[in-house]
Amino acid sequence: MEASTVVNAECRICSNRDNNRGYIAREMMFGLRHTFSYFECSQCGCLQIATIPRDMGPYYPSGYYSFEPASPPPEPRPSFRNYLMTLRDRFAMSRRGVLGSLLFKMYPRRDNLLPFLVPVRLRTSSRILDVGCGNGQLLLQLRALGFKHVLGVDPFIDRDIHYDSGVTVRKATLFDISGKWDLIMFHHSFEHISEPRETLQHCARLLAPPGCCLLRIPTVSSYAWEHYGTNWVQLDAPRHFFLYSIRALELLSAQAGLKIAEVVYDSSGFQFWASEQYVRDIPLRSEQSFCSGSSTSMFSESDILKFDEQAKALNAMRRGDQAAFYLAKTPAAVQCVERGNPE
Ligand SMILES: [Zn+2]
Repeated sequence: MEASTVVNAECRICSNRDNNRGYIAREMMFGLRHTFSYFECSQCGCLQIATIPRDMGPYYPSGYYSFEPASPPPEPRPSFRNYLMTLRDRFAMSRRGVLGSLLFKMYPRRDNLLPFLVPVRLRTSSRILDVGCGNGQLLLQLRALGFKHVLGVDPFIDRDIHYDSGVTVRKATLFDISGKWDLIMFHHSFEHISEPRETLQHCARLLAPPGCCLLRIPTVSSYAWEHYGTNWVQLDAPRHFFLYSIRALELLSAQAGLKIAEVVYDSSGFQFWASEQYVRDIPLRSEQSFCSGSSTSMFSESDILKFDEQAKALNAMRRGDQAAFYLAKTPAAVQCVERGNPE
């Protein structure tokens, strides 16, 4: 890692000011190469942006994510195929059902987030809130599985989205939400939030016991941050305001009256190939990037497979660069699962 200097900045998680180390990180997703100061707390280990840019607009250009309303899955019709796909998806989120297990292996669904719900004790009557959910794809899947009380919020969508199936995504933040919820989840949105403490405290107020808050985030308690430093792709300056260490998350959770009940590592080969590109000054969204098609990339498909294997090994050692953290209001909210990637 490159040389860093000690800076006089107060950690927003633990208030420590001593021996915090400063770094300069560049915007490399789009290759703007604007520079941003970050610092790493010597006490809790949290890496954080020194000053939050006043205008984040240039860093979320159109096409950053698709916020177009998704095509809702067809209303469940009593067809044999739909019945089988429901069995598969129920298995994905519960690990129950022999036939579902077989179908899950035979017909895997790419980018499926349902497996992250395995440790959460849910019923179809559970109230589920998805924060920073874009067009609400996961909520549509849950609705198709019989979950009636689901809601999404995302401040960056153009307007509220109302699907025929009854799913709503509101153009709002968590602080606009009231009522009681059994699961509040953040799939790679929490690291973009500038007030993590207030956010978790509001979650704790909204959670009905036993209550679970699921945070899927990158972590600096990882090989990738230690090895790549400011070229680590998931630092993602300036969009990621906080890159949490395990210690920082423990502190934040305790400040909100929550406890980390389970951690499931799910990092992928992305941490290697994209960080290797940054080392060579290749932006993520550039023609030479692996994202743009393997013919223009410095990496072959077999290189990528090797990176994925290395990521699996890191996950098994709890050293991958991202994980799902299950914060529980009471221990009964979360059931422990076997270690490793839920996919
Ligand atoms: Zn700190």
